[in-house]
Amino acid sequence: MADLSKLREQVAQSCRILGKLNLTKEPSGHVSARVPGEDRVLIKARGPEESGLRFVSARDIITVDFNGKKVAGDDGLDVPQEVFIHTWLYKTRPDVQCVVHVHPLTVVLFTICNKPIQPLYGAYDPSGLRLIVEGLATYPRSITVSNEKLGEEFAKAMGDKPACLMRGHGITSAGPNVEDATLTAIKLNDAAVINYQASLLGTPEPIPQEDIDILVGKSRGSSSKSVHAGSNWRYYCKLLDEE
Ligand SMILES: [Zn+2]
Repeated sequence: MADLSKLREQVAQSCRILGKLNLTKEPSGHVSARVPGEDRVLIKARGPEESGLRFVSARDIITVDFNGKKVAGDDGLDVPQEVFIHTWLYKTRPDVQCVVHVHPLTVVLFTICNKPIQPLYGAYDPSGLRLIVEGLATYPRSITVSNEKLGEEFAKAMGDKPACLMRGHGITSAGPNVEDATLTAIKLNDAAVINYQASLLGTPEPIPQEDIDILVGKSRGSSSKSVHAGSNWRYYCKLLDEE
């Protein structure tokens, strides 16, 4: 079997970044990565000896199969109840290599009030704008996604989008690697925070459609996305080093 220690450490890093940015509540939330070429998943465990996202190390990352059964990992670490969010996205989307599920308060507020996250900024963060304009799905139920049937239903609702808003619950993001799925979750949270703060200050006005078309078109076609993704990821990893 391939050496998975680097991938396991990346999943742990993603957890610590999301925890550091307060993108979840207490120990809830999990990040996973597909084991390349296998029907297996590395996932942040729950259970009596789990660590909260903020404090996750590679030890907290267990291995599960596509039925959500634990196949490797320390005693005291269990499969998250909502493993089916992850397994169903891997089963139905071959492009997906990483899945993030967290409960960011500000985004959840938007799902509670049924308010759309509006495109309020452009050059401030073009790929964040693109996410808001064409990257969001909605899962209207507020239930814990804790069995195969709900996993299938959830994956259907998310479709081929990079992120899904889960009503009264949280968010799920998915991407071609750990960096990408993590940054999508962060950008979605940023957009919700800006929408929320702007509405406290006054009446937020979406930017002109003409600018949306230009910026979204550019960020869709360019390779600059991956260049920025690399430096953004390094930035957040550095934040972790500061302690
Ligand atoms: Zn959840």
